[in-house]
Amino acid sequence: MDTLVRAIADNAQIRAFAAVTTQITETARKAHDTSPVVTAALGRLMSGAVMMGSMLGEEDELLTLKIDGDGPVGGLVVTADGRGRVKGYAINPQAMCPPSPVGKLDVGRIVGKGYLTVIKDMGLEEPYNSRTELVSGEIGEDLAQYFVSSEQIPSGVGLGVLMNRDNTVRCAGGFIIQLMPFASEECISGLENALSKITSVTSLLDQGLSPEEMLKSILSYTDVEITDHRDIAFRCNCSRNRVERVLLSMGKDQLEELISEGKDTELNCQFCNAHYVFSPQEIRELLMSVGH
Ligand SMILES: [Zn+2]
Repeated sequence: MDTLVRAIADNAQIRAFAAVTTQITETARKAHDTSPVVTAALGRLMSGAVMMGSMLGEEDELLTLKIDGDGPVGGLVVTADGRGRVKGYAINPQAMCPPSPVGKLDVGRIVGKGYLTVIKDMGLEEPYNSRTELVSGEIGEDLAQYFVSSEQIPSGVGLGVLMNRDNTVRCAGGFIIQLMPFASEECISGLENALSKITSVTSLLDQGLSPEEMLKSILSYTDVEITDHRDIAFRCNCSRNRVERVLLSMGKDQLEELISEGKDTELNCQFCNAHYVFSPQEIRELLMSVGH
């Protein structure tokens, strides 16, 4: 099971989040048959989202991260809730691009230039909505920029996905470390120094560190208190019942046309790629169930 921890550090002047999302990322890769570089992009975005989901006040609130870029992937959409459930997809899951000059999966290039939109649905009439320009398309930096410019919270964000030779996910995860408004100059420079020493998140993950160990390693110069520990998973809330409602929203005329064609109708969930198949007879029964 993947896990997430929350912590406070340096006399509560810092709050920190870390997650291991290896299984979440592998589940998404299998569901969407993503190319390695898209797996990395989607895994990073889901890692960020699941940690940001844990920042929501209520468990049934929803957080959506949407990336619209001009790179080959065409965009990514990820949704997380306050219970550690996350799901996501890429517009072009099989998109590919050459590796970066140092031979790494080039997430910045597959994403391209564009925008990050953060939507928080807190059950109010109007969801909170914020759009920031992408810094590099590498996702960690883009989320850090969002925190600074939209929430005025200086943040260090590290996200990483490492693949096996057979293109399955070897490890995935990351951290978000934030300065509280009352952080002292000493605390700020201590954190900056610690963050500058991290060469790669994937190397921390590849050492097999748990989220707790990851935070304690990054913040080893100060006190760290873990305040929450939870299981997280790739989970979609689609169901045949929901898909039936989508079908019904197409209207009676269009459904009768589907029936007269005499073929099965297949609908796929964008988020988890589950297939829902309806025979003409089943569509007829669905129409009858609502009085047609
Ligand atoms: Zn689904």
